[in-house]
Amino acid sequence: MTLATRFAPSPTGALHLGSLVAALGSYLIIKRAGGEWHVRIDDLDTPRCVPGAAESILRALEQIGLHWDGPVVYQSDRAAAYQAALATLEARGALYPCACTRKEVARAAQRSGGAGLIYPGTCRNGLPPGRQGRALRVSTVGSAITLNDGAAGRIECRLNEEIGDFIVRRSDGLFAYHLACVVDDAEAGFSHIIRGRDLLACTPPQIHLQRLLDLPQPRYHHLPLALNAAGKKLSKQTHAPPIDPQHPVPAMVQALQLLGLDPPVTLTRTATSAGLIAWGLQALADAPMLTLGNGPSEDRPQHAWEP
Ligand code: GLU
Repeated sequence: MTLATRFAPSPTGALHLGSLVAALGSYLIIKRAGGEWHVRIDDLDTPRCVPGAAESILRALEQIGLHWDGPVVYQSDRAAAYQAALATLEARGALYPCACTRKEVARAAQRSGGAGLIYPGTCRNGLPPGRQGRALRVSTVGSAITLNDGAAGRIECRLNEEIGDFIVRRSDGLFAYHLACVVDDAEAGFSHIIRGRDLLACTPPQIHLQRLLDLPQPRYHHLPLALNAAGKKLSKQTHAPPIDPQHPVPAMVQALQLLGLDPPVTLTRTATSAGLIAWGLQALADAPMLTLGNGPSEDRPQHAWEP
């Protein structure tokens, strides 16, 4: 199998320190192992996409010296593949229409889990009388996922109790992230998914979909996150400043440090971005969290999902 991973930014703004850590970490790890680094633009959530942001992210990656392999994939071009996956889920009896509004879910949910409120299954056995389906959910009843994450270690998740039935097609008709992500990751044949630790809770639902769709399971490696001074994840929402692609060295040094690497001061004063990337590739040899393991990525499911 070819070693390959991807950086999959949502074009909701310019490249910032948080996304640079994901880009640089995934690049260094896969390149050090001799693999390919691809870029996918996750532009499905059209109301949140900012015009020009995808181009600005791609230009910044090039200026920084993070050159990708193969063509850039845009999720907005992939509706037919997502529709086909929905049809497969439907044929397996795993999908159901849900009439609940966000407010109704908030009122009915008893608990929240790693991915927010846990849907209590209101519409799983049929829509309430007089109600219309809005979104499509996938059933998670009986699904137990265990995996060995390359950086975060062993993860166990009883999906129905900890995440709940999740949406694969939203009430506005858009395909949801989990569905699009697994379809695209499988189509590209990525051996590894290397991304920020903030997406760890997304992995059990994504593995659930891979099983339902008979897609191969890549190995997962969730990187530590860039946090701001208040301990919040660095993202556009928390006002992470955009990277200046003309002067990327300070951000690159910070990104290396956030990955647990420590470029020497002499280098940080004189290096170019390309020089820091070359240094990072060498430095990975001493960073076990940033090395791809060889062990099995999953245990067998404890309970196979039964349609
Ligand atoms: N597009 C997602 C984000 O920017 C990342 C998707 C992924 O790496 O799976 O948060």
